[in-house]
Amino acid sequence: MDDCIFCRIVSGDIPSDVVYRDEYVTAFRDIEPMAPAHILVVPNEHLASTDDLEERHEAAMGRLLRAASVIARQEGISDFGYRLTINTGRNANQLVPHLHLHLMGGRQFGWPPG
Ligand code: 5GP
Ligand code: ZN
Repeated sequence: MDDCIFCRIVSGDIPSDVVYRDEYVTAFRDIEPMAPAHILVVPNEHLASTDDLEERHEAAMGRLLRAASVIARQEGISDFGYRLTINTGRNANQLVPHLHLHLMGGRQFGWPPG
């Protein structure tokens, strides 16, 4: 998808601070971090949101979660605790229409979320 900002980051067309990459997912630092560690994990294949998930995406989604766990350890935020968030749709504040998992850590988080 030429007009998708995260597809362009995955392809390397737009520069980003990549912290993890494998055959299913790419992870890079959020440009406007909401926590000391704020990383976005995205499937390499374009997918607009969790609303578009099909059975064939299960391997990539499993990898998305496990990559977040690996990266959290790599970032040194595992023991303190961290938050994983996926926003789907306008009312959940999804601004970029390429599915992404927010991995945030390094500070205390409140509940319920805003
Ligand atoms: P959403 O609100 O869609 O769940 O989150 C989109 C996230 O993407 C935001 O946290 C925003 O800061 C981040 N973002 C938007 N454009 C770029 C970009 O070009 N590069 C990086 N690294 N992050 C971006
Ligand atoms: Zn995309």
